[in-house]
Amino acid sequence: MNAPTTAAPVRAALSPKGMLIDGQWVEAASGQRIAIENPANRSRIAEVPRAAAADVDRAVAAAARAQVAWRRVPPRERGLALLRIADAMEARVEEIARTIATETGNALRTQARGEAKLAADIFRYFGGLGSELKGETIPLGEHVLSYTRREPLGVVGAIIPWNAPLMLGALKIAPALCAGNTLVMKAAEDAPLAVLLMAEICQQFLPAGALNLLTGYGPECGAPLAQHPGIAKLSFTGSTEVGKIVMRAAAERIVPVSLELGGKSPSIVYPDADADWTVDGIVAAMRFTRQSQSCTAGSRLFLHADIFDSFLGKLEKKTAALKIGNPLDEATDIGTIINAKQFNKVCGYVQDGLQRSDAKLVFGGLPPKTGPLSEGYYAIPTVFADRSNDWRLAREEIFGPVLVAIRWTDEADAIRMANDSHYGLAAYVWTHDIGRGLRAAHDIESGWVQVNQGGGQVPGMSYGGFKQSGIGREFSLEGMLDSFTQRKNVTVNLAV
Ligand code: ADP
Repeated sequence: MNAPTTAAPVRAALSPKGMLIDGQWVEAASGQRIAIENPANRSRIAEVPRAAAADVDRAVAAAARAQVAWRRVPPRERGLALLRIADAMEARVEEIARTIATETGNALRTQARGEAKLAADIFRYFGGLGSELKGETIPLGEHVLSYTRREPLGVVGAIIPWNAPLMLGALKIAPALCAGNTLVMKAAEDAPLAVLLMAEICQQFLPAGALNLLTGYGPECGAPLAQHPGIAKLSFTGSTEVGKIVMRAAAERIVPVSLELGGKSPSIVYPDADADWTVDGIVAAMRFTRQSQSCTAGSRLFLHADIFDSFLGKLEKKTAALKIGNPLDEATDIGTIINAKQFNKVCGYVQDGLQRSDAKLVFGGLPPKTGPLSEGYYAIPTVFADRSNDWRLAREEIFGPVLVAIRWTDEADAIRMANDSHYGLAAYVWTHDIGRGLRAAHDIESGWVQVNQGGGQVPGMSYGGFKQSGIGREFSLEGMLDSFTQRKNVTVNLAV
């Protein structure tokens, strides 16, 4: 038998049957649709339903009906469904990965394939956690039995962004379902296709209504979902700005909310770490091969003055070796920015940097206006050097491959600058001196600090932000228990 080709299935993913409500593939009540663009060549590749409030109502009602039975399914059986989903996703990794690459512009080899595998792994991880939804007994005395139960919240409203749509979607679906909730999830308007494919796989192993997936715009579909009285929990990943809107909606009805928001994460390089492995780590931490469209991008590089120039020289060489081009090409390291709006925003930051007299362009700059790269939203890795942590490029989340390098001499000063941000998601520390590295890790105000590595999240770790980077944790057993269950205490008088 010949190896299956992936072109045909990807064509199927580009012709979605609609969105998923109550186990059915449906159009929006309005009949309207959204066009999806391939950012590598600006061509229209698909259409999806444009859901609005009426569709949210239908989906929440379906999820509420499904919840009655789903919460009574023994947790290990719920986990088994997730394990089957993991197997089915693994069998279709290539098709899923090509779909992600086509709709997001993320390179297949360096990003999209890994994301497809990680999403399957997330289902596998949570699939094994059914038995961990344990309660406690409380020793109130011989004649009293007091115990806690971890109960599901009900219908979860989940909203996800486009930058790692499959991974972030899996992170909502798997723990919410394992804990006995049902979901209405809204995909991002720029990247719904791979998530629809994931929902199609999930639906093969789930009862109708357990997972409902809507496609639509934020204000038209996300807002009514966040405000819906039938939603018992909101789980949002996206910008801090929209996170505040979601939190306000949650406050109106006093529903619990988890937020995974933006970041402006620092990398602190000590003078003993002026080496190739650190440079590779900085390239990884900055997520250059994801066009730095990552909340955890280490986008503020604090370099010790003694190594400032030599380190940036090495970084330029490494970065120049990365191939920018067609996301589906196996040789490509760096793909495209997601859409015109983000592309223009990134170019605006580069323009700002070029105009600032205190900043020096180390390498990169504005994208080419002619040639093959001008056909899509291709940005080029760019580094500015500056003395200050106080300007716009060092404070705002750019969500593009623009790194700001800042010189330091005093360690306390480096940590003070690293912490001088309203964000606190990730951080990176680079040194051979492990004591110093750990002291810095403890002093940095971030939810996730990596020492001598710049990798991505792994199932099992508790991931989430300090400060305006978010509330709550994901990726872990604790995250599932805190975010998707509520504790009930039952106290029984044994003396009667
Ligand atoms: P990004 O900058 O990654 O696009 P956003 O916060 O704009 O992040 O979008 C993340 C998700 O939030 C998307 O699914 C988007 O449609 C949704 N969204 C945008 N505006 C709203 C809103 N007012 N209410 C609810 N969801 C929204």
